[in-house]
Amino acid sequence: MNPYPDLYLAIDGEVIRGDHDRSAVLAPATGKEIASLPLASAADLDRALDAADRGFRIWRATPVEERSVVLRRTAALLRERKDIIAAIASHEQGKTVAEASAEVMMAAGSFEWAAEEARRIYGRMLVRPSGRRSIVTKEPVGPIAAFAPWNFPIDNPARKFSAALGAGCSVILKPAEESPASALAVHRALLDAGLPAAVAQIVFGDPDKLSRHLIASPVIRQISFTGSVSVGKHLMKLAADGMKRTTFELGGHAPVLVFDDADLEKAVTMTAASKYRNAGQVCISPTRFYVQDAIYERFVEAFAQKAGSHVLGDGLDPATTMGPMANARRLPAMERLVEDARAHGARVVTGGSRGDGDGFFWQPTVLADVPMQAAVMNEEPFGPVAVMTRFRDFDDAITQANRLPYGLAAYAFTGSADRALAVGEALEAGMVGINTTMVAGADTPFGGVKESGHGSEEGPEGIESCLVTKAIHQG
Ligand code: NAD
Repeated sequence: MNPYPDLYLAIDGEVIRGDHDRSAVLAPATGKEIASLPLASAADLDRALDAADRGFRIWRATPVEERSVVLRRTAALLRERKDIIAAIASHEQGKTVAEASAEVMMAAGSFEWAAEEARRIYGRMLVRPSGRRSIVTKEPVGPIAAFAPWNFPIDNPARKFSAALGAGCSVILKPAEESPASALAVHRALLDAGLPAAVAQIVFGDPDKLSRHLIASPVIRQISFTGSVSVGKHLMKLAADGMKRTTFELGGHAPVLVFDDADLEKAVTMTAASKYRNAGQVCISPTRFYVQDAIYERFVEAFAQKAGSHVLGDGLDPATTMGPMANARRLPAMERLVEDARAHGARVVTGGSRGDGDGFFWQPTVLADVPMQAAVMNEEPFGPVAVMTRFRDFDDAITQANRLPYGLAAYAFTGSADRALAVGEALEAGMVGINTTMVAGADTPFGGVKESGHGSEEGPEGIESCLVTKAIHQG
């Protein structure tokens, strides 16, 4: 196995390891410390802001063809380094190497997409009533403060960097302190691809202090955050003080409607694979299963069989099909939700407790007959827990699916074309999968409605969110 790399802050092209406060990085599969991470001081953050200010002026003046070449080279370097980066991500975050390898490819895809889409940032020309011409242009918003979580330690940083850099912005990224080396590997690829050093910085620190410091700076023009709804709301209030633009990709509690005319085998196979990917720590993970009466028992049984067949273990072991949770605090969170569901009369069909060993293991879990009042029906579990209940008819299903303040992803399985159309329109979500769980990709907008956030990453909308509009009228 590749050794876990040294960790550092990356500011203005300098690798900073010095005499700093530090936090421990743990391997989720063993619970043991694998490295210590330097945390940025206020002076480090000021240096990063200064570099981002300078970097923005350099990068916005760089012809789009050159920006595009750097992003395309970054994609190629990530692909070349796939095995090394995947092993690092698995070690620090827990996911299987197969999942981490796929994540490297997703990250490369995001850079490649941004490299192409950056060349299509168009404006328009107006013929005014006076006969004169005016032009409407799109410009990069400015330096962006971006905050990425630990669940996709490679792809989350890649999403933040690719759109911002494609649009011509500079970035200060704070990745999650739990999974720092993956983000540093993405940043390394950018510098090796020729990105001017001042354009992208990586800092770690106390999340609250660090985000307050960056958001308060007049240098920062946009905030991009992926994480929980509560932290998103807090950051939005901080951003309001400087009237800063925001993109928030927050939590979800994705409903899955399985109608009695659905292809049951397909619905079970797709949703079970998607549910236990990354030990359920995915914001679009299918979680609240509403299954029509006639097929409910068959669906629960077939799904639980898939869940129970997982090999739980260290993500670095090729035999493992589901790794541990990324951090220790997720275990009491799972315990509380499962116990509360039991107390509300739910049936634990499979799993429901910690896995063996010192790592942060939670068994793939299926809870059936879960009443609406149970906490897990209302709070995002962000773990390997599938929650099932019955529905009667279309209206009942839609009412239950749309009941929560979340609106990120939603899924439906049906054999009826009419119903597919109607359900797609009725579900309150930023992404809807009908007879599929594949709702993400470099070319398609990823984002939520309601309390799941606003703005999009990926797709043309991802680049658009890093641009501002200017109208230039000439007399
Ligand atoms: P959390 O809210 O404490 O942290 C989530 C992320 O936000 C972490 O990366 C953390 O470093 C960062 N963060 C926390 N406070 C911050 C602040 N004041 N300023 C800037 N960044 C800050 O939650 P957690 O315990 O790490 O994860 C559990 C919850 O987070 C889940 O229930 C889920 O809702 C949410 N989450 C969502 C996503 C997503 O993809 N939308 C990813 C990870 C976590």
